[in-house]
Amino acid sequence: MTKTIASKILSLTLLSLAVISANSSLSLWAEEKPAAQRPVQIPDVGSRPNWVIAIHGGAGVKAHDQMTAELAAQYRAVLGKALKAGAHILQDGGDGPKAIEAAIMIMEDSDLFNAGRGAALDSHGNARHDAAIMNGANMDAGAVAGSSRIRNPISAARAVMERTDNVLIAGAGADWFAAEQNLSLADPLYFQTERRRDMLLKKRLKEPGKFAEYEASQAALFGTVGAVVLDRNGNISAGTSTGGRTNKRYGRIGDSPIIGAGTYASNDSCAVSATGHGEYFMRYTVARDICARMEFAGETLEQAAKQVVIKLLKPKGGDGAVIAIDPGGKVVFSMNGTGMYRGVMTSETPARTAIYANETVRENTSE
Ligand code: ASP
Repeated sequence: MTKTIASKILSLTLLSLAVISANSSLSLWAEEKPAAQRPVQIPDVGSRPNWVIAIHGGAGVKAHDQMTAELAAQYRAVLGKALKAGAHILQDGGDGPKAIEAAIMIMEDSDLFNAGRGAALDSHGNARHDAAIMNGANMDAGAVAGSSRIRNPISAARAVMERTDNVLIAGAGADWFAAEQNLSLADPLYFQTERRRDMLLKKRLKEPGKFAEYEASQAALFGTVGAVVLDRNGNISAGTSTGGRTNKRYGRIGDSPIIGAGTYASNDSCAVSATGHGEYFMRYTVARDICARMEFAGETLEQAAKQVVIKLLKPKGGDGAVIAIDPGGKVVFSMNGTGMYRGVMTSETPARTAIYANETVRENTSE
């Protein structure tokens, strides 16, 4: 069955490759020259927020010349909806992981982001999802990697955390686990969006015979989603969900489901969700490093996030960004590229979103 679908997809891919002209626009990879940017931002969360939620939709923001006002409004609308879904739970006293799941599900169900429905396709033309969640109150964590049938991978990650004594379940086992837990499954074709197929084809045309090897301009393609939360009980938590990278090598797993790399939370320090070139985020254990700097070196959240994302990762070529929160509810957006789809809402401030690094979060006018 799976084989039949795979071979259908492969023939579709080959057919489309033949019809796409070699000089079709590859400006998708055109690198944007960042203007004056504010790479580390601290949005106002109010003086004593009871609860806070911050989210991201990936560091791969579109170049300005490819972003229409209409598209930007669409991104902002989904971010706003995700913030409100999480906020609703926090307002009612729900815990952080529940709010994170609610917010991330909205972004997974949208085809705008590289997660859930809109996940990037791998070298075989399949969507393979990675997701993780961590509860900073008790250091519980759950993750799934390389799943292909789970409609909302973040729900499966939460189920691993709350219903098993494992941390990470991968591949067919993850799909099987989700079915056992009565989570919503989807036909693999549900994840085959036209946009993602086009991206895969363009990628293959550009780099025939290669997998998603790194090149700086690909920064424009990171679209992972994530959330960090402070709940009414004073606990912080983090979650991340992704399709990985377009044309990734079959079986490749990124940083998102790796606790300490793309996702981490501890009430003793901070909660972090990352987006960017996963191999670097894994090698530099980015999320844990930011929190460890606070815990052991006495750095503030802002200093730690700046040190790791801007000073350490950027010169090495590790493109990307993080959202982070400390137990006081202070939020930091730290970006080493042109921006990050992002937003924040608290018990004291409305839903606000931003896209580019030189913007600060503001209320959506289109809602
Ligand atoms: N970090 C993700 C990965 O490498 C990609 C992304 O952020 O979009 O799998």
